[in-house]
Amino acid sequence: MRKCAKAIWFIWMLLIPVSIVHAEDASVLLGFYDKVPDPAADIRKLEQMQKKVEAMTRDVSSRTMLNSAHSLELAFVSERLAQVDTTIQELSDRLLALEGTMKAQAGADVDTIMKLDAEYRQTASLLLRKKEERQSIEDQAGLGEQDMNLARDKRELEQLKVDMERQRERVKELSEFAELGDVTGFTTPIGVPVRITSPFGERLDPITQDETTFHAGIDLEATEGTPVLSAFNGRIARTGNDDELGLYVWIEHGNGIRTLYGHLSSISVTQGQEVRQYEQIASSGNTGSRTTGGHLHFTLTINGTSVDPAVFVHAAG
Ligand SMILES: [Zn+2]
Repeated sequence: MRKCAKAIWFIWMLLIPVSIVHAEDASVLLGFYDKVPDPAADIRKLEQMQKKVEAMTRDVSSRTMLNSAHSLELAFVSERLAQVDTTIQELSDRLLALEGTMKAQAGADVDTIMKLDAEYRQTASLLLRKKEERQSIEDQAGLGEQDMNLARDKRELEQLKVDMERQRERVKELSEFAELGDVTGFTTPIGVPVRITSPFGERLDPITQDETTFHAGIDLEATEGTPVLSAFNGRIARTGNDDELGLYVWIEHGNGIRTLYGHLSSISVTQGQEVRQYEQIASSGNTGSRTTGGHLHFTLTINGTSVDPAVFVHAAG
């Protein structure tokens, strides 16, 4: 279906400057978009992408919060360490000073020496506790590692969101053309690949054989009485009998697409009737003046302009 959507879009683009799309353009295009369309698979893929984006969004935002908390913690820890280091330095200085005092007072009385000794022990013990506290702060700071992969995962998430939007567009396009039926697998309005006996475009007039006329469709090989099938899902826009085209049927398929079937021997549908793809609408014949034998004339118009049905038809060699 994707192929069809792209083909139609491409044709619309081409229709702006010129009114005719040749088979070569279409075949290049169809060759380029050679994937087998499967809308259900595309919808499943989109759902999986949505789930992944949701899960990653949750993961990345919780990790972003953890990272912020960790940054705050780091700032707090370094402030605490600076305070403890100042205290350690003060206590070390005081111990050194006490040692000096104790040496100078070696000959002093027992009470003085005991008092100095007690102060020294108390200061040494305090210094030890401060050093232990410092170690404990350092140990705690090592617990929460900064998440270095976060930036990379955030970029990956952004890319995933872009891909998801692209897939959403693709699914939207597919659903817009889904009502046509199987477009890329379409063969011919005969239901099987048959030979194109006269191509689309300028040709030597098959009746007069002496002037060039424009053939706004293709002629498909069909013996009289061959069932003629609707190319795609649609509604019968008109049936009638034209001097040149003979008995004919126009089908409206939506999306600006209409198809015409001519030189029919009989018509089995009525105006306004809904038809499904490959539903019989008529039998082929040889009616009208512009025919040189039993065949089916098939025209495809997009937004009112005839385009080469070879865009869709898979004819026999
Ligand atoms: Zn024709």
